Amino acid sequence: MKKMKDLPYIIGLKVKIYPSDEQKRLIAVNDGAKRAVYNHLVACGNEKYRLSMSADNVPAYQERLDYLESVTGGLDSIKNAMPFLYGKDVDDQAVANASKNYHTAWKNRKERHTGVPVFKKKSSVQSYQTNAHYYAKDTQEGHNSNVWFLGKNHVTLPKLGRIRFGGSSGEAAEIIRRQEARDIRIGTITVERDAVGEYWASFQVSSETPFREILPPAGSEHGIDLNLLELVVDSDGNELENPKFLQASMKKLKKAQRRLSRMAERAKKDVRKLLECKNYQKQRQKVAYLHRKVARQRADYLHAYSKHEIESQDFIAAEDLKVKNLMRNHNLAKAIGDAGWRTLLNMLKYKAKLYGRTVVLVPPKDTTQTCSVCGYVMSGDEKLTLDVREWECPYCHTHHHRDRNAARNVLKRGLQAAMQP
Ligand SMILES: [Zn+2]
Repeated sequence: MKKMKDLPYIIGLKVKIYPSDEQKRLIAVNDGAKRAVYNHLVACGNEKYRLSMSADNVPAYQERLDYLESVTGGLDSIKNAMPFLYGKDVDDQAVANASKNYHTAWKNRKERHTGVPVFKKKSSVQSYQTNAHYYAKDTQEGHNSNVWFLGKNHVTLPKLGRIRFGGSSGEAAEIIRRQEARDIRIGTITVERDAVGEYWASFQVSSETPFREILPPAGSEHGIDLNLLELVVDSDGNELENPKFLQASMKKLKKAQRRLSRMAERAKKDVRKLLECKNYQKQRQKVAYLHRKVARQRADYLHAYSKHEIESQDFIAAEDLKVKNLMRNHNLAKAIGDAGWRTLLNMLKYKAKLYGRTVVLVPPKDTTQTCSVCGYVMSGDEKLTLDVREWECPYCHTHHHRDRNAARNVLKRGLQAAMQP
């Protein structure tokens, strides 16, 4: 059987799972193991960085550096540094993936200028990643993997064993059918307990045969621009509005979040631990629930939009996410807006692959400030402020709608990028 990376088609499947108490305990153990490994690597990495600054003349430092290098190397060295990882409840793949994620974080820092990897704190969310293992020969039960869907409602997972899952969708049914036909390979599996306390499993599934029929050419292309007034404006001037139901849920969430911070402040003043404040914990649950509701409503809405875009356009260009801005963001509404943007980009990229379309991400610099007709860039005092919705180019005198003009620049950049070899 081919490896994941050699299979061209990929799809995600997320199902709600109902673990037993023992399985819940195992999930908590592996979430802890994942965090311990990650934090161990962060600590070693930090020390390595400090020592490497002054390692030249001090042989003892070099010795320590060599040691740090060795304990952050492979799976065995990490396990030797933290012997509890040899425990029978710990999933080796969870350990390996935590290490992989740490190294990816460093790679992202170099390539995309994200922050240095930092310690992960224990939170109300638990999660870890594991992987399906494939056998050369089928087992007695007739399976070729340790991850196997049994009927419509059960799946076996590494370490956890047989586990019930719910709401078997059409998507799950297709995976189950194709598993029987040996037509899929399951890669990474993320096991999660969300902030509300519900459990989920997400499967990365790939195959040599497409999961969807490739769409015929649509003869149209779009650049899209995100802003917070309308959610999306495209290069043809179509607007996707932020729906009222979403605005209403967000208002509720903001209110609940403010109440939660006030409760935290009060607890701090009274020198009480948050974990022991019943009302705070109740409110935290409420905030988590509302957060999830907003995320789901938005996801449904964006699913419908991205599906329509993929069906009606051959080529879509969008602004790449501004990672740095995102990290500086402490405003909730903006943070959720950014999260929505990232969700939308992921959906578009994912669906483009499934249906044979092209999605290109372009750098966002000056898309708003550039005239899409003549290329003039507004600078200094000319720069458009946020309240300017329409403007006229001082050079070619074209009248512009702010966001439509930005979307046209995005499309131009996208097409240029696509043409370069
Ligand atoms: Zn112009």
